[in-house]
Amino acid sequence: MSETALRVGMFGGTFDPVHLGHLRSAVEVSECLQLDKLHMIPAPRPPLRGHPQVSARDRLALLEAGIKDTPGLIADGRELRRQGPSYSTLTLAELREEYGEAARLVMLLGQDAFLRLADWHQPEQLFALAHVVVVARPGYQSDRPAPLKELIGEREVDSVSSLMAEPKGKLLTQTLPTSMAISATLIRQRLADHRSVRYLLPETVEKQIHARQLYTF
Ligand code: ATP
Repeated sequence: MSETALRVGMFGGTFDPVHLGHLRSAVEVSECLQLDKLHMIPAPRPPLRGHPQVSARDRLALLEAGIKDTPGLIADGRELRRQGPSYSTLTLAELREEYGEAARLVMLLGQDAFLRLADWHQPEQLFALAHVVVVARPGYQSDRPAPLKELIGEREVDSVSSLMAEPKGKLLTQTLPTSMAISATLIRQRLADHRSVRYLLPETVEKQIHARQLYTF
């Protein structure tokens, strides 16, 4: 069963704007985990941070421009069609419904987001719906706070094959070939200061940002 089950990833974020740290991680994780698809899903109203500067529709358009025809990656606007806070449990429940109980459903997170996982809405429920895969991010330490340790319990596995033996409920830390110290905060600051963002994000995304004068107020 595990060899034929579909492997589906969910990579949520504010994507304000999407950058090469997101996109390269998405490609490399897809390769390491042999994912069939990876849904990249902008959050219109991220519960744990301030309101993004740019509308969810614009952030989705930038994500679409960044992904273009990258095999396996999907710019998924489903959270824009929902009311209320952008809880990942709701999104994972939808994906689980669509792909069925046998699918290997994986929620992808950077190290910084992972360290705050215990503060999320219904964090136990995340593991009832999917696996969690964490990727390293330059500049973030790896000490896990006590509530996170408690949440993880015995869920941690040390290989992709152990992860994929189950449809959900496990945690894997995945080292990727490339790691990039790029953040959307850095890009927003540079744009506000009218400094170059070339090679921090795809050229198509940079073009759209400039053409529509996003982030420059
Ligand atoms: P901001 O600087 O506005 O907080 P960000 O660059 O952290 O934004 P988000 O949209 O908040 O981007 O992140 C979405 C997801 O992508 C999170 O799980 C985050 O950890 C991960 N991520 C962001 N940048 C990187 C990167 N350079 N390398 C690996 N993962 C990343």
